[in-house]
Amino acid sequence: MDVLAQLLEELTTGKLEIIDLTSPLEPETPVIDLPPMFAPSPGLTLTEISHYDNRGPAWYWNVLYMGEHTGTHFDAPIHWITGKELPNNATDTILPSKFIGPACVIDVTAEVKQDPDYLLTIERVEQWEADHGHIPNGAWLLIHTGWSQRAGREAFLNIHDDGAHSPGFHPSCSAFLAKERDILGVGVETVGTDAGQAGGFDPPFPSHTYMHGAGRFGITSLMNLDLLPPTGAIVIAAPLKIVKGSGSPLRVIAITR
Ligand code: MN
Repeated sequence: MDVLAQLLEELTTGKLEIIDLTSPLEPETPVIDLPPMFAPSPGLTLTEISHYDNRGPAWYWNVLYMGEHTGTHFDAPIHWITGKELPNNATDTILPSKFIGPACVIDVTAEVKQDPDYLLTIERVEQWEADHGHIPNGAWLLIHTGWSQRAGREAFLNIHDDGAHSPGFHPSCSAFLAKERDILGVGVETVGTDAGQAGGFDPPFPSHTYMHGAGRFGITSLMNLDLLPPTGAIVIAAPLKIVKGSGSPLRVIAITR
């Protein structure tokens, strides 16, 4: 059978499953909380245009107002200064072939339960590769931290007097992933691809710095990563085609067995 016909049949019969990796997008959806000297990014405001009423008797629709980086969203290389000169670095110019790729899921839920500031290390990635094989070219590296289970803004952002506490990548691991592995990018359950404390790392925000500097992408606020196998799933993540966009909310789905 033709591979596309087989794909459709297996999706229809449920042999293959579609998993929604996207968090609900609503006015309460948390956005990253930057120190006050930086401009904040607004969360979602939804304004009704009409709702089957005198403003539009047969139709319901809304206006969206939000930062590009709200909820489950895509980070394009142009988002970071290290990626600003790269070709095809914005949401409208990234090659669409890069919107689909295999998923490598590293489960660090146990580590994050012990330490909310847990950082993924090169050693942990290599340990995963010893179990599941080399991270294939063009893959999404997804870290399953369990963070999406944290309900409500306060628990999700986990901000203390000394800033946010949430898991991410050790700087050396981000450099390794950007230079030694040919991945599309990294996907996380947290509000950003860097750890909560990463503003104080060397370099600051190493995941953004290294990944976007190497033309790689990011996806944040993922959920349902527990439903994916370590390898074998396919992720589809296509941002809105915003001209010169630095990112966009998106619907992320996975196809899995
Ligand atoms: Mn972002």
